[in-house]
Amino acid sequence: MENKDAKKILVIDDERDIRDGCARILSRLGHGVITARDGQIGLEKLEREDVCIVICDIKMPGIDGIEVLSRVKDLYPSIIVIMITGFSTVENAIEAMKTGAYDFISKPFTPDQLRIVVKRALDNILLTEEAEELRLERERNLADLQTEQSRIRTIIETLPNGVLVTNMAGQVVLMNPVSQDYLAKSHSSCVGRNIESCIEDQGLCDYIREVSTCTLEPGEEMHTYELVLPEQRYILARGKPVLGEDGQCMGAVVELSDITALKVFDRLKSEFVAKVSHELRSPLSIIHEQLAMVIKGSQGDQDDKSQYILGRAKEKTQSLISLIGDLLDISKIEAGSAEQETVSVQLEELIEKIIEFVHSQAQAKDQSIEFNLPQEKLPPVIADPIALESIFGNLITNAIKYTPDKGTISVTLDARDSGDIRVRIKDTGFGIEKRHLDKIFEKFYRIKDDNTRFINGTGLGLPIVKSLVESMAGQISVESEPQKGSEFTVILPAGRH
Ligand code: ADP
Repeated sequence: MENKDAKKILVIDDERDIRDGCARILSRLGHGVITARDGQIGLEKLEREDVCIVICDIKMPGIDGIEVLSRVKDLYPSIIVIMITGFSTVENAIEAMKTGAYDFISKPFTPDQLRIVVKRALDNILLTEEAEELRLERERNLADLQTEQSRIRTIIETLPNGVLVTNMAGQVVLMNPVSQDYLAKSHSSCVGRNIESCIEDQGLCDYIREVSTCTLEPGEEMHTYELVLPEQRYILARGKPVLGEDGQCMGAVVELSDITALKVFDRLKSEFVAKVSHELRSPLSIIHEQLAMVIKGSQGDQDDKSQYILGRAKEKTQSLISLIGDLLDISKIEAGSAEQETVSVQLEELIEKIIEFVHSQAQAKDQSIEFNLPQEKLPPVIADPIALESIFGNLITNAIKYTPDKGTISVTLDARDSGDIRVRIKDTGFGIEKRHLDKIFEKFYRIKDDNTRFINGTGLGLPIVKSLVESMAGQISVESEPQKGSEFTVILPAGRH
């Protein structure tokens, strides 16, 4: 039974034998075949039937084959037309091909010749259909991709945090509305523009450029940048470089989060600590003094055990008093309320006095302190001498504390080409493992190992030092090797501040 949906072959020829012959040969191959005895009938059948190949005689009464061909090409461009040409009518064949015939077959032809021509045409149809299927598939994929892209864009645009993406040249590739709100100088889009022309904060621009060109040292922790917006709004920028397949730097993705609430919380916490410390200081000092008096007044009267207990109590109150002193110092520095009376200071003289002051501590551990000065006189620094004493007092005392007996501490001063003054405090002590190096500047961070277990401290010395150095627009860094020693370097701008 003939399949109604199957595509069919239409044979148009005024010669009945040819029509019937073709129909017979092609039906045997399983094709549905319909026939027409002239061009007009053929064109009418095409209107009703789903035909894929037309085999048409060129020479026919009425509408001739070339005319049928050109109408079929106009009305049904996807139908393949094969022309049947008369014996030695090459010109006709050429004309037919020019008009758009797919192929031609010359009369008289054998069944095999007909089969070959039809097979070629069917193969062509198959290929065209496959190509069409592929095109549709590609369009579907592109549509999926577009949906995915717009979904990701929607997610990024609605994120509560800012997202900024730049390329290696420092141009903005993507800036979601939140980051636009935090950073952009104007409401116009920043995409395609240099970050400098779009973002006001120069420090942030430098940070983004460093991230996008992989200039920042890779470390365990992400480098960050903090910026302050008007109305005391604090934004934390965390950037990561975008790496290509070969690991090359291609740009940066920067996430911006509003940390104002955390800052407020931090400030309240500091204020609370400062208040409690302040309240504790006087009574503790009184207890300390009274203990000292009891110990002094009762020397000889009490047994050794009581003396020992009182002595320990006095030591502990002393530790508490120094902890409170450190807490108050750090609160003041953090709140920016530490008053610094700046004067011109010759650093070498100030440090020499500190060394004289701590000399007895070093002597008790059989340590030597070297003090190295350049030949030329150093330029003065304009800073608060009390803050400078705190900085270098802490660093030199640490060097003594964290160096075993018989070690060496060297303090070296020199002026750099820029005019800044560099102070290096080097010891031959226990050293610090790499994983602790960044953390020792955090509040209350102390390294607890076999070397340091019995050394007293609050973990506040280095944070105080760092805050003070930074308040003078200076820098502090540390290099250290476990069991070999540490070197702390402070750079202070000379003649400024
Ligand atoms: P503290 O000395 O009161 O513990 P600091 O903030 O001054 O607090 O130092 C933090 C930690 O850094 C110390 O506990 C110590 O482990 C380490 N540290 C500081 N200076 C040195 C040094 N010169 N050599 C080795 N370790 C040090």
